[in-house]
Amino acid sequence: MSASTLENVVIIGSGPAAWTAAIYAARANLNPLVFEGEPVGTELPGGQLMLTTDVENFPGFPEALSGPELMERIKAQAVHHGTRVVSELVKQVDFSQRPFTITPNYAGPVLAHTVIVATGAAAKWIGLESEMRLAQIGGGVSACAVCDGAMPFYRNKRLAVVGGGDTAMEEAMYLTKFASEVVIIHRRDSFRASKVMANRVLNHPKVRVLWNSRVSDVLGSDFITGLKIENAVTGEASEIEVGGLFVAIGHTPNTTFLGGQLDVTEHGYIKVSAWRTATNVDGVFAAGDVIDDYYRQAITSAGTGCMAALEAERWLAHHGLGETASVTGGSADADAGA
Ligand code: NAP
Repeated sequence: MSASTLENVVIIGSGPAAWTAAIYAARANLNPLVFEGEPVGTELPGGQLMLTTDVENFPGFPEALSGPELMERIKAQAVHHGTRVVSELVKQVDFSQRPFTITPNYAGPVLAHTVIVATGAAAKWIGLESEMRLAQIGGGVSACAVCDGAMPFYRNKRLAVVGGGDTAMEEAMYLTKFASEVVIIHRRDSFRASKVMANRVLNHPKVRVLWNSRVSDVLGSDFITGLKIENAVTGEASEIEVGGLFVAIGHTPNTTFLGGQLDVTEHGYIKVSAWRTATNVDGVFAAGDVIDDYYRQAITSAGTGCMAALEAERWLAHHGLGETASVTGGSADADAGA
């Protein structure tokens, strides 16, 4: 793991995509090296699942488990199969020549034949201390209604959604299945969301909108009880009782360290070929939320992590590089797909 050793595959990230890619690459005898990152502020290695209390929709776990526990288990499985882990953020990469160079914050640069970028996307938060505290302790503040909204403690309560884009509309519609009322709090007097999605929400009998409104504080010590609202035009302050807050003001894909070397979509997500994880740089693959502004689920992320590892393995085999999965003469892919 220094510039003198040449890695088959370096995986950057620590969410379900990264660890699933590592499981597949390790089982294919590629001896993967994962840069899992390091804690920075509220961002922890493990990604957005580290802020998820109960995960009820990951197949194979009929009893809910916590987001951190799920990540710990997937990581343990990757390590069990021989994945090596460096707990550092990658500060830059050089994809302009082969082998690629990956430079972490503190250790020396690493050379690699293939790289899988699985650095995820960070949910944007309003930026209130009370909001972050309750999100971290599972106190009824979340950035993903589809992940958390079906939890029993949100049932038949008034739930708030902040934002005016398509994500906020989707989250609000989803929450109408469980809530007694959904209150959308938007800072302007019109939605940014597409007309069709906005109209669907505006016509829903359970939805009410607080226009020109900002959340100035989240109330409740262990669990959310209400919100302080400030009118963005008049400055007038008010309070509203709620049993949950869903912040839906966008996501930022974590790509800064790439220095613009990979093509991205208009929203900044890494571009990959259709139903593949190949990027515009041959030998560099991308998986998980850093390529996905649509599904954003742990299971879809894990699925694309698997795809990226299989593609990296096939790329190495095609170029006569890396260990093959089978020492008995079977194809490299056969073992990885088992
Ligand atoms: P977005 O379009 O950027 O909308 C973010 C919303 O949050 C905006 O209404 C914005 O207000 C508000 N906002 C931003 N920062 C805020 C803050 N600090 N406090 C309060 N409000 C804040 O993000 P998105 O809704 O996640 O959508 C991202 C992209 O994915 C879009 O292109 C969208 O069309 C796409 N998408 C599509 C679908 C679908 O087709 N099914 C579903 C989800 C997302 P302003 O309007 O005032 O700026």
